[in-house]
Amino acid sequence: MPVSDDFRQRLDACLPAVAEHFGTPFYLYDEQGIVDTMAQLRDAFAPLDFREFYAVKAVSNPRILRLLREHGAGFDCGSVPDLGVARRAGATAGDLIFTSNNTTAAEFAAARATGALLTIDDLAAFGKLPDLPERVGLRLNPGTLPYGGEAELVTSGQKFGLRPDQLLAAERAARARGARSFGLHAMVASGLTSTDVIRATLEFLLTMAGRWHSDTGTVVDFIDVGGGLGIPFRPGEPAFDLRGFAADANRLLTGWAEREGIPRPRLFLESGRYVTGPHGVLVTRVVNRMEKWRTFVGVDTGVSAMIRPALYDTAYHHISVHDADDRPEEVVDVVGSMCENNDKLATARRLPRAEEGDLMYVHDVGAHGYSMSFPYNHRLRPQELLLHADGDVELIRRAETEADFLATLECERRVLHTRAGGRRVTT
Ligand SMILES: *Cc1c(COP(=O)(O)O)cnc(C)c1O
Repeated sequence: MPVSDDFRQRLDACLPAVAEHFGTPFYLYDEQGIVDTMAQLRDAFAPLDFREFYAVKAVSNPRILRLLREHGAGFDCGSVPDLGVARRAGATAGDLIFTSNNTTAAEFAAARATGALLTIDDLAAFGKLPDLPERVGLRLNPGTLPYGGEAELVTSGQKFGLRPDQLLAAERAARARGARSFGLHAMVASGLTSTDVIRATLEFLLTMAGRWHSDTGTVVDFIDVGGGLGIPFRPGEPAFDLRGFAADANRLLTGWAEREGIPRPRLFLESGRYVTGPHGVLVTRVVNRMEKWRTFVGVDTGVSAMIRPALYDTAYHHISVHDADDRPEEVVDVVGSMCENNDKLATARRLPRAEEGDLMYVHDVGAHGYSMSFPYNHRLRPQELLLHADGDVELIRRAETEADFLATLECERRVLHTRAGGRRVTT
């Protein structure tokens, strides 16, 4: 089910006052829910040498990242600014993994300077890395995976990761640059509510690690199965079986280590959505009811603040109308104000009849929500609030203003006279 009953109760209790005080729209994150999920991860993987490296691209607010770190998380960063945000949240070298792709030499140099563990995604990376730290990760792409259950999943078309047959070449290149200790990484899909694919990913990595050990004697230090754990977006959808996966992982890693006669590797996970997704909502106010060819409920936010419904055909985000459960239902599109027809948070959705002035909230936007927002049509980004466990609500990012948006127009005057021998004028 979308947002937990507990979160719903906490939210319903304070929503009108929070909306009144801070104004709408806003993202609101539930501290208690995030802390509880971190505790569930810790408990589930307690028998293993385990760490969650939260995927920073899923939430970009350092206040939330700080909370995650207080509860044991490190950070998986896909870009140099991701590393900057994580460091702003207090992360130090040992907390950081840099899992980039299509990376430049300058980006590698900047990532190296933070002391982050580098996950190397392609042989071309070695041309951009003059030297390496002692320990690195190598990202593999299995091409296809044997697994049961879930719908089709094609990994060979993905741009991520080395082919398995490139592993030994990658090891040689890494050793030539100073690396001595290795981990293996693979992430093949996102939003998985069954455990099949992630378990198959772990089996694939262990098979590769076993072959590698026989071929060259290399003993992997860690296995990183990436993120991709799904959450139920629709009412009634099954939840990811975390305990089941953790038990499988324990069995697979322990059995493998016994068979190989080498120590059990550490296990890393880089979940984003699973950890914070269900613990964030986007709160908005109804500003119009419009009877056109369909019934439209117009709200004071839209897909510029939360793009997923416009980006992925299959993305569904549950919507609640605050304090309206007893009203008759109707089928409506929930729309923003952008001059794009796909500015719809919901299409043909059955909802209690919403009136102008009502508060609504969009569920499950605590990951890949604000961080994917964009200011097209000068629809500026909303504020972010944190609902603390004690009921206090704190502003953790103000709304973007027109001045913020116009700030990058303030720049030095630089003109290159291309027809005058390349003379450059700077004033
Ligand atoms: C996006 C990403 C993640 C997180 O994905 P979720 O589906 O949010 O768990 C983890 N690792 C890498 C390398 C990623 O690119």
